[in-house]
Amino acid sequence: MNRFEDKVVVITGGASGLGRATALEVAKEGGKLVLVDLDKEGLEESQDEIKKIAPQTKVELAEANVAKEEDVSRYIQFTMDTFGRIDGFFNNAGIEGKQNLTEDYGIEEFQRVLDINLNGVFYGMKHVLKVMKEQGYGSIVNTASVGGIRGVGNQSGYAASKHGVVGLTRNSAVEYGQYGVSIKAIAPGAIMTNMVEESLKQMGGDDWEAAGKEFISVNPMKRFGKPEEVAYLATFLLSNQANFINGTVIAIDGGQSFQY
Ligand code: NAD
Repeated sequence: MNRFEDKVVVITGGASGLGRATALEVAKEGGKLVLVDLDKEGLEESQDEIKKIAPQTKVELAEANVAKEEDVSRYIQFTMDTFGRIDGFFNNAGIEGKQNLTEDYGIEEFQRVLDINLNGVFYGMKHVLKVMKEQGYGSIVNTASVGGIRGVGNQSGYAASKHGVVGLTRNSAVEYGQYGVSIKAIAPGAIMTNMVEESLKQMGGDDWEAAGKEFISVNPMKRFGKPEEVAYLATFLLSNQANFINGTVIAIDGGQSFQY
């Protein structure tokens, strides 16, 4: 398939995990890319991987902090100056934050997680929607989480931010559908990326692999998801094929959200 020929896709969190896996899929199908992240080295690694599998791909890198509105405005302006349009926006950068009971959850930590996971997603939508409305076309995929549709525990900041992402998705979807723009959220379960490895280390310390086995024992499919499995979903949702899917939150979790 060549669903992204002549299309421009911006991906935040493009230096790692779900963002990188999705960038690779978009590149395979002819898309032009702007990858946004704080992590310069990771961005360069993503670019190298893309060039290996799809050497013709136009891929630009933008070092930016999604929690700073001026950075967001800058990477959107950069995309418009470089490519002149934005067809797909994978609004995906995020962190888990420290795990703790609510009473022990740090105030600063709560703010930090909200700043990145919620404010970052809002700033991204605010700037990209303006562009897409004018174009009369576009698709936004926000990364929420199973923690945005269910209670998981020990994740006050994460839960608040990801439930917030679901709310932002639904609110903007009803505003912008009339302009040909669709907005959806994905709710991944445990997908093996750097973020999940760090999360398991918080739970199990040096024995984090054992913590991982215990964690997936309650998943109906008894395994972690793979980044490329999320990438297949995200690329479909970013493509024109998914234009009528609007305001929807799609879980990709091996069925785990039905188990809680
Ligand atoms: P990851 O750590 O591999 O990738 C996240 C990327 O976001 C990193 O490259 C990081 O540098 C970047 N990032 C973090 N803060 C940033 C900021 N302020 N500005 C710009 N970039 C920033 O993790 P991942 O699993 O690929 O996570 C991607 C998204 O998926 C996150 O929003 C996460 O909450 C969500 N998610 C992941 C899982 C999972 O199991 N992996 C499950 C549910 C939701």
